[in-house]
Amino acid sequence: MPLVDVHAHFLYAECGRADWAEVNAARMRAGATMGITCHIASILGSFGFTSPTYFPSPADVTAGNDAMLAICEREATHVRMYATVNPNYTEHALGEIERCAAGGAVGVKLAASRRADDALLDPICSLAAERRLPVLHHIWQHRTREWPSQEISDGTDLARLAQRHPRTWFILAHIGGGGDYQHSFHAISGAPNIMLDISGSGVDRGMLDGAVRCVGAQRIVFGTDVTMETGLAKLRALDATGLLSARDTEDIRWGNAARVFGADRLGMAGIGGR
Ligand SMILES: [Zn+2]
Repeated sequence: MPLVDVHAHFLYAECGRADWAEVNAARMRAGATMGITCHIASILGSFGFTSPTYFPSPADVTAGNDAMLAICEREATHVRMYATVNPNYTEHALGEIERCAAGGAVGVKLAASRRADDALLDPICSLAAERRLPVLHHIWQHRTREWPSQEISDGTDLARLAQRHPRTWFILAHIGGGGDYQHSFHAISGAPNIMLDISGSGVDRGMLDGAVRCVGAQRIVFGTDVTMETGLAKLRALDATGLLSARDTEDIRWGNAARVFGADRLGMAGIGGR
């Protein structure tokens, strides 16, 4: 059965880490062991090496997207990409979305440099809808203070953006990524165009159950982010909720991703009759 990881990251030579190639190889190895058939990945500029991770310079955004395009070409059967953009540079961001979409990008990854309900995100979300590209947005689960070097959003902010852009799919990043995920579940329950990705290091018992109860299995997508082992734990835990039919589990593993990204774009057209 296919397994789509909607929240993956790769590194490249300009990230300032000597072991970047080994980290990438480890992701591919772990993915193969877990049964991941498609990694949908992004590179956030230089990951802080030459400009801030969450406020990457246009040059770093372009270089990171170039590196991601090259990885997609090399791993064409297993890897797809998000076009990473910094919404503070509108023209550059729109240009990167068009350029990367032409190269096969299937989504948009927004750097967390503007709150999700900021007007600077509107042109990006409109273009994403036009090009049928889901937008992955980095979220802190219930923001209780400001975070250095980023303008962090929570589910409430994202819900406002989603309501302004009902034709755009949004993916709320990593419900296991820290903070109060129950806040997120309720904040987005009335925004049907927001999907929840289950990535992040949190593996609390009850987290998946709460997500299923609040938004239903058809709005949940599998992902790992940088901690693949906790992604595996949650994959195995899907059965433990006792709330999911076989079809629901299939939807979380890949069916929902195929629906919002397009089965054709993920190389899955026709699988399982979808
Ligand atoms: Zn991430």
